[in-house]
Amino acid sequence: MTRVPPLDRLGRPLGVLRLSLTARCNLACPYCLPDGLDPPGLLTLPQRLAVIEAAVALGAASLRLTGGEPLLHAGLEELIAAAEPLRERGLQEIALTSNGVLLSAERARALRAAGLNRITLSLDGTTGAAVGRMAGAGGGDPGEQAQRGEVLLAKVLAAIEHARAAGFDPGRGQLKLNAVIQRGANDDQLLPLAHLARERGLELRLIEFMDVGNRNGWRPEAVLSAAEMVERIGQRWPLEPLGRSAHGTASRWRYRDRSCDGGGHLAVVASVSAPFCGDCNRLRVTADGIAYTCLFATPASGLDLRPWLQPQPDPEGLRQALAGRWRRRHDRYSEERQERWPTITPQDQDPGRHAEMAYLGG
Ligand code: SAM
Ligand code: SF4
Repeated sequence: MTRVPPLDRLGRPLGVLRLSLTARCNLACPYCLPDGLDPPGLLTLPQRLAVIEAAVALGAASLRLTGGEPLLHAGLEELIAAAEPLRERGLQEIALTSNGVLLSAERARALRAAGLNRITLSLDGTTGAAVGRMAGAGGGDPGEQAQRGEVLLAKVLAAIEHARAAGFDPGRGQLKLNAVIQRGANDDQLLPLAHLARERGLELRLIEFMDVGNRNGWRPEAVLSAAEMVERIGQRWPLEPLGRSAHGTASRWRYRDRSCDGGGHLAVVASVSAPFCGDCNRLRVTADGIAYTCLFATPASGLDLRPWLQPQPDPEGLRQALAGRWRRRHDRYSEERQERWPTITPQDQDPGRHAEMAYLGG
């Protein structure tokens, strides 16, 4: 029987499943601040597969594996390989977002062999001091933090090359860099990051600092808008707009002096200054099986999928539960935030109001 994929109350289809594999992380970026613990009752491999299968049945063509830090999950490669058969049912790509610190050459090859299509690595600076600060390589004096930052930076730079050597081709969009830019914290890293990405032939995706969770100290003044990022970089390397693809989060730009390889592109994610809720097609499922339909959701709004996952997955029940939730979805938090702007205050981040980033998976 052919089923029509559900649309939510604003007419949006489901297109992407962001599956968090753990809420734990080996870093402590202050804009994210994971609590270092996983919730009890992490999903098993068959349960995760059941969630992916249900999302694909409802229209998800893209699976993004995330966390916390997904490379901390020992079963990552096994999960990717096990999801392969779903390509026959509409799954088109499997992608990973990682801080890259644990991406050895061997792991990169194993991920590629398992069937991973794309890797996005996060890096917020090009100096030990900036990386140490943005990764929360805390404790000690600034000199010690910078030293730890140097080590992390070297690991991420090595990870880029490991991924490339394993076959993730940046020219085909299979390897990209993410950077969160926070005014007054690392906005001096904009040009150095653009330079680093250009040199390595990578598309750089600059993300506005978002008010996710309740403990990252977000305030409007700390947001450097995507427009300003583009302007600053464009003054050094002229850019021309390529627009935003349907359901994409990023607006893309092309460096005028480059051909269209990976390093010829820049992307900005303007979730705060230019919200794209209108065509958001993302479903998020946490490591313990709670489904959220918005990155800025309240913890209580999550749908606990475990009743349809244990003791054994119930594929039809799960599909119906998710379809029902998707049909009731009307989230448009970033647009609402913009409507309140500029009266929005840090107090909008009441404790417990938003689910945390490392739990939701970004
Ligand atoms: N640990 C992995 C990593 O850092 O790539 C995956 C999980 S992380 C939550 C996913 C993405 O969310 C990262 O690119 C990170 O930089 C971004 N992120 C986290 N907190 C953010 C915030 N407050 N504003 C904007 N982006 C954020
Ligand atoms: Fe960890 Fe990623 Fe959050 Fe940084 S952004 S603390 S690397 S989960």
